[in-house]
Amino acid sequence: MSNSSLQTKPPMLELQDLSVSFDRQRQLAVDRVNLSIQEGLTLGLVGSSGAGKSSIARAIMRLHDADSGKILFRGEDILRMDPREMKAVRQRIQLVFQDPLASLSPRRSVGQTLLEPLQHFALGDTLSRQEKIRHTLHTVGLDHDVLRRYPHQFSAGQQQRIAIARALVTDPDLLIADEAVASLDVSIQAQILELILDLQKDLGIALLFISHDLAVIRQIADEVAIMYRGQLLEQSSADAFFSGPAHPYSRALLTFASSAEPPRLPDGNWNLEQARSAMEVNASCVFAHKCAEKMPVCEQLEPRSHRIQYRDERAMEPHCVKCHLYDEATGNEN
Ligand code: SF4
Repeated sequence: MSNSSLQTKPPMLELQDLSVSFDRQRQLAVDRVNLSIQEGLTLGLVGSSGAGKSSIARAIMRLHDADSGKILFRGEDILRMDPREMKAVRQRIQLVFQDPLASLSPRRSVGQTLLEPLQHFALGDTLSRQEKIRHTLHTVGLDHDVLRRYPHQFSAGQQQRIAIARALVTDPDLLIADEAVASLDVSIQAQILELILDLQKDLGIALLFISHDLAVIRQIADEVAIMYRGQLLEQSSADAFFSGPAHPYSRALLTFASSAEPPRLPDGNWNLEQARSAMEVNASCVFAHKCAEKMPVCEQLEPRSHRIQYRDERAMEPHCVKCHLYDEATGNEN
């Protein structure tokens, strides 16, 4: 995609070898992930349930401890920030969850819901806060007469607009939307996607859009990153990805998305992903047990991440893929 700039500007947010484990058994939710998000662009983070997408979101917000690695926000490592520094970052990075009703306090009116972050971050005075709340509601398509009403009095789509307004009221630089449209009806989903696209264009914020749905990602993303069992398998511009996915898992996902029938892959239900234990790491390719293009080396050695070198108009497009098929990559692989 022409506006992809993975390689040309310093990223707003950069994950470096980030690992996150679930529990005391050290089940890896996120396994040495390197990922970057550019100012003002949308990165679509794709994978099925258990791939580690939400764990990345929670680690960025420090809602879950990371085991190792770095999370750089404008060059500063979030994981090493003290509480005062982290509070400042939380104002700049906001999160929108999948279930809007569960994410909103039933005891707070809409006005109180939007006032709380302004008070928490000590933004503005009494008068300017009320003006900010009205303006933000207008931005998400709600009238100020909703101020005294409570979350349960709204439809799911309106509840998600309120949740988005709460996220926007602090003027964030980065919005993380974690399956933010997954629980909505298709027609409402389209409206909320359109709202998010308009907001991003108007406000110039960056977006980490987490979804299991490639059709949704195709509508919204400038760049795409594919996760499987905690590992990042592919990252590229959305145009390069949708015109030629490089990783066998990505190809399977796209085939699945465009077909009524799931593709016949080895080993049954490929869509159910299990977390890997630390013991499994480095032993093989994470997708080897289900890959139709598996080679002997795939079960002996973990692949490294390759940058595909195109010889056509995509030459400037960064496209990284973690697969042994590209060990000797020299030109257009797809
Ligand atoms: S490394 Fe091997 S098993 Fe893994 S995705 Fe590539 S070809 Fe398939």
